Amino acid sequence: RAKDAGKNTYQFYSEQMNIHSLQQLALESSLRSSIERDELRLFYQPIVDAKQGRVVAMEALLRWQHPDMGLIGPMQFIPIAEDSGLIVPIGEWVLQTACAQGRQWHDQGMDVALTVNLSPRQLMDPDIVETVARALKETGFSSESLTLEITEDLMMSNPEETVETIEELRQLGIKFALDDFGTGYSSLSYLKRFPIDTLKIDRSFLQGVPNDIDDSAITAAIVAMGKSLRLNVIAEGVETTEQCDFLLKQGCRHMQGYAFAKPMPADEVSPFLDGAKDSFDVLAGVSAS
Ligand code: C2E
Ligand code: MG
Ligand code: MG
Ligand code: MG
Repeated sequence: RAKDAGKNTYQFYSEQMNIHSLQQLALESSLRSSIERDELRLFYQPIVDAKQGRVVAMEALLRWQHPDMGLIGPMQFIPIAEDSGLIVPIGEWVLQTACAQGRQWHDQGMDVALTVNLSPRQLMDPDIVETVARALKETGFSSESLTLEITEDLMMSNPEETVETIEELRQLGIKFALDDFGTGYSSLSYLKRFPIDTLKIDRSFLQGVPNDIDDSAITAAIVAMGKSLRLNVIAEGVETTEQCDFLLKQGCRHMQGYAFAKPMPADEVSPFLDGAKDSFDVLAGVSAS
């Protein structure tokens, strides 16, 4: 009996696995043609200075407008893109599209700095420096207005080469941010070794702020450490006025999260920037103690 039950469980599990891998395979093959079918989209989410009440940059976030499944978020297909190597052409599309958009906003009188996420596989790609340089050159977007967001796990796998690549890209005038800070390993030693400008506190820490004393203590400590290392610190996932207040009290004024805006399609950015100043003044007003 127990054996039967075990067997059934196993079969069930294994069928699930097969369905899962079939879905992955189907997704991979349609992802392969997503660029030529023009199904990829970039959304933009503001990074704000909550003290001054202004937008400091917009982060480009990838979406896939799938013909049957609708709009799919990056968590559902970036891993597939990573495993299959498709992340390299997709990442190039992201860079080109973001820079072209940034140039267009610039020409319309909006100097919007942009941040673009780079996955580990992309930064290890031997052509990455050329790819980024080409995106800047072809679009005419200023390298000074571009920040690349990378994660800690990336640095673990191949530290020496990664530092070299980052240095080469920095020579183009590009800045670097360490994304999801606090979730990887050996965070502190990497902060010292890697030539980055900005640290983004992972939103999992913000969730407990200000009620959870541990989350609040960790957040405060990361802000203090970032500041003493002369890094720009951004808190991700700020959803409430209380979180905003807490961060301002710690001296962290750069924030990103639903409290300010969700990621939006490109055509909503210009009206958003027009209306942004007033709405942030309200938040900053509430927070000034
Ligand atoms: P990330 O770079 O850490 O981006 C922040 C994620 O948190 C975004 O999810 C954003 O929509 C979400 N978020 C922002 N504010 C809040 C908030 O207040 N509350 C909550 N609950 N969530 C918030 P999204 O767009 O689904 O992106 C997920 C991840 O996918 C990104 O995390 C990034 O690692 C990756 N990603 C996105 N676009 C790209 C891309 O173009 N290339 C690569 N390689 N990775 C990308
Ligand atoms: Mg990011
Ligand atoms: Mg993040
Ligand atoms: Mg993340």
